[in-house]
Parts: sequence; structure tokens; C-alpha cells
Amino acid sequence: MTCKWLKICPLRRLEKQGKITDKWRKSYCETDENWKNCKRYKYDEKGKYHPDNMMPDGSIKKI
Ligand code: SF4
Repeated sequence: MTCKWLKICPLRRLEKQGKITDKWRKSYCETDENWKNCKRYKYDEKGKYHPDNMMPDGSIKKI
């Protein structure tokens, strides 16, 4: 099962804009399990703020 936010995650917009590659989607969002390790996902579960340009590993991408 992929991440429940796969289709509406802000990272999809950044992909469409060419600001990030599909590597995050392939290594986190579309995987069966690894989305559980995504910091965006974890922050969301805790209701903790995270900017749109925070990547699944917690790094902030300059956009
Ligand atoms: S970046 Fe994280 S929260 Fe967003 S779709 Fe991918 S795994 Fe889910």
C-alpha cells in the first residue's frame, strides 16, 4: 500500500514544476512500506508544521 497522501502531497506539485526529481516518490511515496519513514508523513500524523519544501528525509530543499 502506498502513502495515503501520494496524490495530494505538495511534493507532486514540485515534481510537476521540475523543482525535484521523482526519486522521493519512488523511494518513499510509492513504496509499500517506506512511506512510514517519511518525515512529512510523521509530522502530519503529529499535527506538526512542515513546509512544502521539506523532503521525506527531513531535508529542506531550496526552491
Ligand atoms: S512525501 Fe511523504 S507524506 Fe508525501 S506522499 Fe510521499 S511519503 Fe507521503
